[in-house]
Amino acid sequence: MNFYSKTATQTALELHTDPLRGLSENEARRRLQKYGANKLLEKKKKGIISKFIGQFSDFMVLILLITAGISFFTAIMDDDGDFIDPIMILLIVIINAIIGVIQESRAEKAIDALKKLSAPHANVLRDGRVRRVLSEDLVPGDIIKIEAGDMLCADARLIEAFSLKAEESALTGETLAADKNADCICPDNTPPGDRHNMLFSSSFITLGHGTAIVTATGMNTQVGKIAGMIGEEEAPKTPLQKSLAKTGKILGLAAVLICIFIFILGLMQHIPALDMFMISISLAVAAIPEGLPAVVTIVLALGVRKMAVHRAIVRHLPAVETLGSANVICSDKTGTLTQNRMTVKSIITPGGKACLTSPEGAFALSLACLCCNSTVSLEGGEYKANGEPTENAIVLAAAKSGYIKSKIDSDFPRLREIPFDSSRKRMTTIHRLKTGGTELSGSCRVITKGAADILLPLCTGEKLSGRTGILDENRRMELSAACEKMAEQAMRVIAVAYKDCDSAPKNDAEAESGLVFVGFIGMADPPREEAKPAVLRCRRAGIRTVMITGDHAATARAIAAELGILTDRDGVITGAELDKISPQELEKRIFKYTVFARVSPEHKVRIVKALRARGCVVAMTGDGVNDAPALKAADIGCAMGIAGTDVAKNAADMILTDDNFATIVDAVEQGRGIFENIKKTIHFLLSSNIGEILTVLTSFLLNLPSPLLAIQLLWVNLVTDSLPALALGTERTPDDIMNRPPNDAKKGMFSNGLWGNIVIEGCFIGSIAFLAFTIGRVFFDGTGEPVTARTMTFAVLSISQLVHAFNIRSEKSIFSSSLFGNMKLIGSFILGVLMQTAVISLPFCSSIFKTTPLSPMQWLIVAILSAIPLLISEIEKAFAKNRSKKTKKIAS
Ligand code: ADP
Ligand code: MG
Repeated sequence: MNFYSKTATQTALELHTDPLRGLSENEARRRLQKYGANKLLEKKKKGIISKFIGQFSDFMVLILLITAGISFFTAIMDDDGDFIDPIMILLIVIINAIIGVIQESRAEKAIDALKKLSAPHANVLRDGRVRRVLSEDLVPGDIIKIEAGDMLCADARLIEAFSLKAEESALTGETLAADKNADCICPDNTPPGDRHNMLFSSSFITLGHGTAIVTATGMNTQVGKIAGMIGEEEAPKTPLQKSLAKTGKILGLAAVLICIFIFILGLMQHIPALDMFMISISLAVAAIPEGLPAVVTIVLALGVRKMAVHRAIVRHLPAVETLGSANVICSDKTGTLTQNRMTVKSIITPGGKACLTSPEGAFALSLACLCCNSTVSLEGGEYKANGEPTENAIVLAAAKSGYIKSKIDSDFPRLREIPFDSSRKRMTTIHRLKTGGTELSGSCRVITKGAADILLPLCTGEKLSGRTGILDENRRMELSAACEKMAEQAMRVIAVAYKDCDSAPKNDAEAESGLVFVGFIGMADPPREEAKPAVLRCRRAGIRTVMITGDHAATARAIAAELGILTDRDGVITGAELDKISPQELEKRIFKYTVFARVSPEHKVRIVKALRARGCVVAMTGDGVNDAPALKAADIGCAMGIAGTDVAKNAADMILTDDNFATIVDAVEQGRGIFENIKKTIHFLLSSNIGEILTVLTSFLLNLPSPLLAIQLLWVNLVTDSLPALALGTERTPDDIMNRPPNDAKKGMFSNGLWGNIVIEGCFIGSIAFLAFTIGRVFFDGTGEPVTARTMTFAVLSISQLVHAFNIRSEKSIFSSSLFGNMKLIGSFILGVLMQTAVISLPFCSSIFKTTPLSPMQWLIVAILSAIPLLISEIEKAFAKNRSKKTKKIAS
């Protein structure tokens, strides 16, 4: 249906809908069944089976499977062959794959749940009331309300449009926003880009507001027709994951080389080639940290889920890592650092201070109220405002002085509006003066409200009681000074001006000139309670807090000082001053300022760029349409969940569901904690793997029998790699994490001697396992097969790794940090030890794993050896503690 060539009324008739009441909920439900959910079809997700098969795509695992297969067949051929071994290998590999699938699905679920949290919504008129519904539930015939910043999610025919502009580049490629108009009718075959009375799914509103009838949803929209199926968005790899993949490859290669080396050594010792091959391959499978990227993803995804509970929705996983290294947070003032609950506190008119109900005060309020889009209603004997906070304060104050918004709106019907935006910092409405009753001075009235320093230069007169005075430069200065005084009391000041004219102004510039100044309305917006402690927390954590606001410098300064953001006097700069300095100059001086006042969204981009050029990792908040570039330019763009527009949310890495500055700081804390946990997981996995390799390598180098059999190696890998590693990844964030400096983003994960620790600890684990082997061989086995020695090595290797996980938990002694702080780790420890004991002591298992039950004496040796890493780590931690104490002393 070509609704663009029909009038809005025809469209409504055609779609059986009522522009004033919308569809009924029942009808909407019926249509939803008929037309289906309003979304583009997605490609099907990977099923369980293909996920399972995916687990075997790893090269080493494949070789292992093939080897197991070969050995299985040779065993069958051979009469007394051992086919339990290959079956067990197969089984262990399958268990590993199942764990892999479970982990992958868990990560996927967590991410899906997040996607739902940030799903788009639309404002729709149903049964005569505007409500917010999931965009998915829109149906043709729905009447939607749209405003600047909205992302459209259906095609729609406009019913009314006020200064409406839409950016349709996703559809047409045209990045310049197109003017929209409800009244025009386009001829048939007009291309989509020229259908000015239509709005399209996946475009967004850059200016104005309006109402429209949904004409098509889901795959029937223009984008649906063009795009067809959309593929599941491939999750971007985080820098950490990329670097880990690289590290993993290098380690893998090293492991393979060592395994080949061991294989050759074994052949030289006349061990059957197939057995030797199986040992080397199992060692490679155990030692290659192929599961690392997956574990990291899970730790990230779980962390992200936890963050969502704490009101920060992370849209891209890499943001979590970046958060941990953030060292500057640029925050909007209004609503993020303050409560965004404004109330009118004082009014100053040309005649001086006025109260709300004085004729001068009430006149200023009534004009300002006409120039608002907020509505007011009486609920339970109290006036409630609905709209933007600044305007809410005005309409409420006006109501108190006797002007009810809906009433004066009908007395002075609005003809046109030039909308507010953060760059213009003012808003203008044009009204018809009714000529009933007394004859008024003109036929229409222009009202402008906005920032004082912008508005005053547009005024040529001032409203004095009974007459209009002339506003000259001197007078303007006086008024500015009065406004400054209000601002210094942390008030946001809105100036109000008007003019009456005989005919409607021809253009915006004409409308906003030659105005008559009426008064300043000062409103207070108290800081959020949590903001001040959060700023302090940032300071301790080595993070700069920067305040960015469109408000007057004096207002900004007063609030910044109250919050502890501003410590010295010269840290404030205004947008006008910013315009005067070059980017290079700004880069040089950027650290001097903590408050940016009277800035436009465009300035935010400059601020972010200057900070990043100085090597900072910047988090930046934003809510409006124009904030999108700054949000994209920042390392972590944070959009407001409540006040934020769809456009800002789409450009952001993180959404704050409570619009609160403190939430960003919490998120940084969580980010740091997650980063720590990933570090711990890697630390654990790599040091354990090195231990495994060293044990085997040493034996072959010394021309000794293999200290572990293939199946035992795989078992150790199974017991130690999955559960304890994941448990470490859920470790609680250390209490002092926000008293440390931010992570150095450039140095990355392996800074601060992590590699050194990994290798040293790997050597220790290798040594004690080898020691167990030697003790077993020398004291218990005699000259036969080293069965006891192997069993002891097997036990020591897996139990010492389980113990080692506790060392890694904290930089402090395990006895000083609460030992039972991580029940998952305790659980995986107990389970691991039980499984290990079972494999050794149960007759059935020990015949499979070729172990022998150990005597109490041998168990004691195993226990003592397994505890050695703990001892060494405790000694090392004690030293490190002393050292850090000393350096602290020196520093202070
Ligand atoms: P912030 O980023 O601190 O919210 P804004 O860019 O929204 O600042 O507002 C900047 C200035 O514009 C304010 O100081 C105020 O003087 C003026 N202003 C804010 N909201 C409105 C509005 N709805 N109508 C007219 N002027 C406004
Ligand atoms: Mg604002």
